[in-house]
Amino acid sequence: MMDGQVSHWSGDAGRPVPRLDLPGNISADVAIVGAGYTGLWTAYYLKKARPGLRIVVIEERHVGSGASGRNVGALTNAITGGRERYVRAHGLDAVGRFHAAMTDTVSEIMRVAAAERIDADIVHGGEFTVATTPAQEARLRAFVASERRYPGTDLTLLEAAEAAEAAEASRRINVAGARVASWHPHAARIQPVKLARGLANAVERLGVAIYERTRVVEVDPYELQTTHGTVTADHIVVTGAGVSGYLGGARQRWFPVRASLIATVPLPAEIWDAIGWASGEILREATRGVISAQRTPDDRIVLGARAPAYRLGLGRGGDGAMSASSVRALRETLQRLFPATRGVELARAWSGSLPAARDGSATVGIDHATGIAWGGGYAGSGIAASNLAGRTITDLVFGRESELVALPWVQRPMPGSRRSPLAVVRSARRSR
Ligand SMILES: Cc1cc2nc3c(=O)[nH]c(=O)nc-3n(C[C@H](O)[C@H](O)[C@H](O)COP(=O)(O)OP(=O)(O)OC[C@H]3O[C@@H](n4cnc5c(N)ncnc54)[C@H](O)[C@@H]3O)c2cc1C
Repeated sequence: MMDGQVSHWSGDAGRPVPRLDLPGNISADVAIVGAGYTGLWTAYYLKKARPGLRIVVIEERHVGSGASGRNVGALTNAITGGRERYVRAHGLDAVGRFHAAMTDTVSEIMRVAAAERIDADIVHGGEFTVATTPAQEARLRAFVASERRYPGTDLTLLEAAEAAEAAEASRRINVAGARVASWHPHAARIQPVKLARGLANAVERLGVAIYERTRVVEVDPYELQTTHGTVTADHIVVTGAGVSGYLGGARQRWFPVRASLIATVPLPAEIWDAIGWASGEILREATRGVISAQRTPDDRIVLGARAPAYRLGLGRGGDGAMSASSVRALRETLQRLFPATRGVELARAWSGSLPAARDGSATVGIDHATGIAWGGGYAGSGIAASNLAGRTITDLVFGRESELVALPWVQRPMPGSRRSPLAVVRSARRSR
């Protein structure tokens, strides 16, 4: 396997730009752990706001070698873990603002990609969720009814006949056994690695330094100890699996989940005639474990699942190897949804892992006493959430009283704890 190839996407994006290891001890204004979306978006917005800031990103492997280079490429406006928990704690208005911010984020990512000439194969095709069993149908109907209680929701429920007509009329997706479907416009298909690498190039053009093959071994206030030297900085930003490692303190608050994906070979026109799917829509099946998929620009299907292929996994996703039974389960899912794909070859199978908070929600915050900020735990909606996190961390670092820092996921007490993130950070430090 070519160095840095962790998914179909990294192979598709070609050989990565080689970057230097950290050359030794350095100082910066902001040091960021991890060159995934959260680290790169944070670097981008900080540098855009204050071009004179000295920002370094320290990456253990390569740009986009974590979840950001392994995902399905479903950019959507979903709030990680759903709205209900936030409604209970913060009320409808606050959650409405959060959802509006996530919706704006889908557009913001497309805006920056266009402005920075990042060609990430983005197609703004919306999101189609189908139910293929009575249990899924009940779940999808309940979800749509619950979402409709919120102002500004434009989630449409398509009954079986309508779904078939929609499939016919707009060449939407012809899923075998679809009983009912939902659709909303706030989603886009992306090529994940091209987004990560394009962003990395954009922040380097702005003057950010990215060091690869350099592992952070300890996060201290104003200081990172790495395998290649010490980085001192006024602010430190922790991302990816580092967030659970750093904020976790206690294992009961976080757990790693692994998701598995397959990519088919490019499919011939006769198969696409049977399936449709001509407008770049994200497809989901309303299973408990969430199955999601996209049609790639070169006519493959990339399909991923959390369950049964999701299982407890490694904190950082390893080299992405997958068990034969996970590959078989995904192949069966593909053939069940699209019988026309029977006999089609798979080009690639891979996996990735994510730190998930026990209560299913994401978190972003800062400890002003130590200068350490963090963003993570976004589960399956991290493409958008990481951008919102990057903009929010920027405001937190600058001490801005913005609308973003008032959103209900910011400085959220960690699950399983009545303490604030600040207290958790401090106790994590004491326990080392
Ligand atoms: C299989 C899979 C499918 C997914 N599908 C979707 C989807 O379709 N849509 C969606 O919105 N979200 C999806 N997600 C979630 C989304 O990919 C993540 O939420 C998002 O990429 C997180 O970005 P990040 O920058 O926070 O973390 P990461 O991308 O994991 O980046 C963290 C970086 O930190 C580096 N690192 C870790 N430890 C150290 C260390 N000690 N020192 C230095 N560097 C370190 C890692 O190598 C990594 O590059 C999926 C995730 C997975 C795993």
